Amino acid sequence: TTKMKKHNYSAGPCILPQEVFEKSAQAILNFNNSDLSLLEISHRSKDFVAVMEEARALVLELLGLENKGYQALFLHGGASMQFLMTPYNLMKSDGKAAYLDTGTWANNAIKEAKHFGETLIVGSSKEANYNFIPKNIEIPSDANYFHCTSNNTIFGTQMKSFPKTNVPLVCDMSSDIFSRTLDFSQFDLIYAGAQKNMGPAGATLVVVKEEILGKTGRYIPSMLDYEKHIKAESMYNTPPVFPIYASLLTLQWLKKLGGIAAIEKINEQKAQLLYTEIDRNPLFKGTAVTEDRSNMNATFVLTDESLTEKFDTMWKAAGISGLTGHRSVGGYRASMYNALPLESVEALVNVMKELEKKCSV
Ligand code: PLP
Repeated sequence: TTKMKKHNYSAGPCILPQEVFEKSAQAILNFNNSDLSLLEISHRSKDFVAVMEEARALVLELLGLENKGYQALFLHGGASMQFLMTPYNLMKSDGKAAYLDTGTWANNAIKEAKHFGETLIVGSSKEANYNFIPKNIEIPSDANYFHCTSNNTIFGTQMKSFPKTNVPLVCDMSSDIFSRTLDFSQFDLIYAGAQKNMGPAGATLVVVKEEILGKTGRYIPSMLDYEKHIKAESMYNTPPVFPIYASLLTLQWLKKLGGIAAIEKINEQKAQLLYTEIDRNPLFKGTAVTEDRSNMNATFVLTDESLTEKFDTMWKAAGISGLTGHRSVGGYRASMYNALPLESVEALVNVMKELEKKCSV
């Protein structure tokens, strides 16, 4: 049987390329014609080691970070574990770190860092319910690192540029990694849960510049120590084999498509199509400040809440799912990750136009 829902706007876990579902289903049944399942072979078998090696190399290739002193790791624990691993590995015992508070996830990161040292919040949009990205922030030059969240999955804002700083730049890219071209070498540590643009939940990508490690002077528990994971080639313990394999398939799909530059064009088309309709249609209103709008997660509300039931019935009937906004913002959230086709955005925009027509008669 195949999937029936056509237009999946889920915020994550989310839509993946169809070929990833097909190829990973096949690998569960019979991996590489071995007559064994991907799920029943050793992670140290030749076939799985090849998966891990290719996935790690492809990450660096797609980000343009080959031969630049970076290592890619696939770890457990989600992006949330990185909220803890970042200060563990980078904050000195008497040190401090600078954080940009742009939403729920940034806050969760700050909460963990506070246990390790002085945690400075150098900018916050909390008072505006995180509907914009704070600008002109000052990062103290004696901070051990600066941490930001490139895309705010819940509030629908996205950093369009990153501060220039002499301290290591750490970025949670969970919800927009591989979606747009950036000079990724400006970052010293990037992390992302797999379950948006990369694959199923269960693996977490970490891309780290090796030279920033080993400077804290504290004991780091093995499973939380980037250096141990690097030394073990991302196999310090049994890695989450299925999410890593499906991530590899997604990365291969992206490479075939033309890489990040190619998907960025499509992502811009999708976002432009939807935001143009949100701005044009008097029945809708965007919730994020225009210049900081996310190309991944578009948040919007109905200007007349009494139309909620009607609109909800219409988009569901059009084969759309996952459009309901996060409980802390309300309204709607259209997550337009890499694998969501342009036609899905056309389908949503048609429903929005249809609602307007119905309301004008
Ligand atoms: N950071 C961002 C920007 C996210 O969107 C999410 C999840 O949606 C997380 C962190 C948390 O990720 P995880 O559930 O993998 O810990």
